[in-house]
Amino acid sequence: MELFDVYPLYPIEPVKALGSKLWDKNGTEYLDLYGGHAVISIGHSHPKYVERLSGQLGQIGFYSNAVENSLQKELALKMGQISGYYDYSLFLCSTGAEANENALKLASFHTGRKKIVAVENAFHGRTSGAVATTHNPKIIAPFNADHEVEFIAMNDLDALELAIDDEVAGFIVEGIQGVAGLYTPSENFLKKAQELCEAHEAVFILDEVQSGAGRTGKFFAHQHMDIRPDIITLAKGMGNGFPVASVFISPKFEPWHGMLGTTFGGNHLACAAALTVLEVISEEQLMQNAKNMGSYAIERLVAIPQVKEVRGKGLMIGAEFDFPIADLRKSLLFDHKIFTGSAANKNTLRLLPSLSVTMEELDQLFEALKVELKNVTSP
Ligand code: PLP
Repeated sequence: MELFDVYPLYPIEPVKALGSKLWDKNGTEYLDLYGGHAVISIGHSHPKYVERLSGQLGQIGFYSNAVENSLQKELALKMGQISGYYDYSLFLCSTGAEANENALKLASFHTGRKKIVAVENAFHGRTSGAVATTHNPKIIAPFNADHEVEFIAMNDLDALELAIDDEVAGFIVEGIQGVAGLYTPSENFLKKAQELCEAHEAVFILDEVQSGAGRTGKFFAHQHMDIRPDIITLAKGMGNGFPVASVFISPKFEPWHGMLGTTFGGNHLACAAALTVLEVISEEQLMQNAKNMGSYAIERLVAIPQVKEVRGKGLMIGAEFDFPIADLRKSLLFDHKIFTGSAANKNTLRLLPSLSVTMEELDQLFEALKVELKNVTSP
């Protein structure tokens, strides 16, 4: 049997990793400034993470959600403490799309309505409702296309006012749009969304799948602003590579047995991974590091003549060049051994390193950029 060929692959196979470093099977070292798509939060193979997960596996790796699991309770408690959402409850699942799917489902259960308002260029995942709220017709199959979704332009207050009415179950927006190319909703836009959702009894959902877990210097990106969503979703950095995701749910939602469910969500290994991530983020002050290293990287990027604009916050950064960056990204990878990311905006280079990245590691990128951009003049 062959693999179903849906991923364009680089001819590189990492076989070992530590912190922000990767090694391929020939022993070549790489610097990882992409974190496998914002997933690596506390650093690859963090010793505490390895020890905790190995120990947990030696005890019990999995049992279904039909029995008590005190690790889940401990995780909910710690999530409340680190995020400040003490009075919210936590639903555990395994992927970002699944978290958003459940968020949309909760909005619909709660309101008895179907329609969702989403934002242009959004990415919310590939399952049924999540992909329907994703603004990319290429990945929406006819089966997914029957959901009632209206897209509005980011930061368009008038469009928001027209779209959110008594027919709407919920409004979903990313803390910072990642896949699109690092676009942050304005505080006015989010405040207006919250106000309209309240007025029309619709549900305000923040997708922090990529921007959460401390990446922007606060636990959630929206916490740089004065808003309080009804539902928040989190995945990627939450498990540092172990598939675990969650939905933060305001006390106004009433659960009933069977309302939501999943086989793998919140299993013992997943909880051990997520608990270790929270502990290491606190012990090593990684949100502070994300803030400091993010400011440093942004300052250096802004000073590059070919960089038109730098967007994002903390260690969720997009640098928009005045030319398409596909070749630059390849040179960074193959000639300088540095992993970076791309975005739907073809001129935007994406940086999503581990929250423990150092200044010396970031400097490697700036040295490489100096070499690569030496002979590139602005068009
Ligand atoms: N939401 C956002 C903002 C994302 O960036 C992603 C993935 O890139 C998802 C949802 C989907 O997450 P997953 O691939 O874990 O299903």
